[in-house]
Amino acid sequence: MINRLAIIGVGLIGGSLALALRQAGYVGEIIGTSRREPHLQQAKELGVIDDYELDMVKAVAGADMVFISVPLGAMQAVFEAIKPAVNNDTIITDGGSAKGCVVRDAKTVFGEVPAGLVPGHPIAGTEQSGVAAAFPELYRDRRVILTPLDTTSPEALASVRDMWQAAGAQVEEMSVQHHDEVLAATSHLPHMLAFGLVDSLARMKDNDEIFRYAAGGFRDFTRIASSDPVMWRDICLYNREAVLKMAQSYHQDLDEMMQAIEQGDGDALLDIFSRAKAARDRFCG
Ligand code: NAP
Repeated sequence: MINRLAIIGVGLIGGSLALALRQAGYVGEIIGTSRREPHLQQAKELGVIDDYELDMVKAVAGADMVFISVPLGAMQAVFEAIKPAVNNDTIITDGGSAKGCVVRDAKTVFGEVPAGLVPGHPIAGTEQSGVAAAFPELYRDRRVILTPLDTTSPEALASVRDMWQAAGAQVEEMSVQHHDEVLAATSHLPHMLAFGLVDSLARMKDNDEIFRYAAGGFRDFTRIASSDPVMWRDICLYNREAVLKMAQSYHQDLDEMMQAIEQGDGDALLDIFSRAKAARDRFCG
């Protein structure tokens, strides 16, 4: 049970955690904070938070759990802002989509990663953003990956694990580097491809005509290109190495596929498509 939860960045991810924990009866008071008062006012009116503070130190003071859910590019500024309120007992976790950069930012600000900081990432979301899109079931039966360091306090890790389980999630642990590589492959690269494809088509002459005939397949493949551009800019820049490695590997495979098409090599194409279908059917049901 959390007595006072401070949420920094009450959007889709932070707001949904607040709603899930409230529904589970796992939290007493929820205080929100971010840059813009109208956003916090909206979160309060929607019943997502009990109250808000524009001063992050005041928001964090006295909280037994601090959850940071801002874009990756804002993490370092948030650590700076809350530093005066952080002590050895403060438990902090986050929902950022890459973990190496969060650990780096924490080291930059605090000198070393505080023992109470448990980096985390819920593998759940939608292409919507903002608190109005938050809903309490977002994490139900979804995975949350925690990436504790050797120096992470076992008590803090247990508290963060318990919180996510109360929100309905299945919690797993992974190293920071492994997390960033796996997510570059399964989430960051697909978003790059979807944004890239839609942009390519949108910049073509007669794009109205192209989009008019876009059918189910196009919609399925490109849904995620409606996601927040700021968030995805930050993910590409802050998980740069792993994203580039995956993109280069995919680039090679795409070249091979194009070569097979050019050479009329139907067997090669059939091999690629059959392997892909078998893998997707197996993993995605
Ligand atoms: P969101 O709905 O846009 O919410 C972001 C929140 O951060 C807003 O409330 C915004 O409020 C606040 N914020 C932005 N910059 C800030 C700053 N400099 N200082 C303080 N607050 C700031 O975004 P989200 O989808 O919840 O994503 C939040 C985090 O979760 C990101 O790190 C993202 O990588 C991660 N994540 C997202 C998904 C997803 O599918 N959306 C899934 C997993 C993880 P103000 O404008 O009032 O400051």
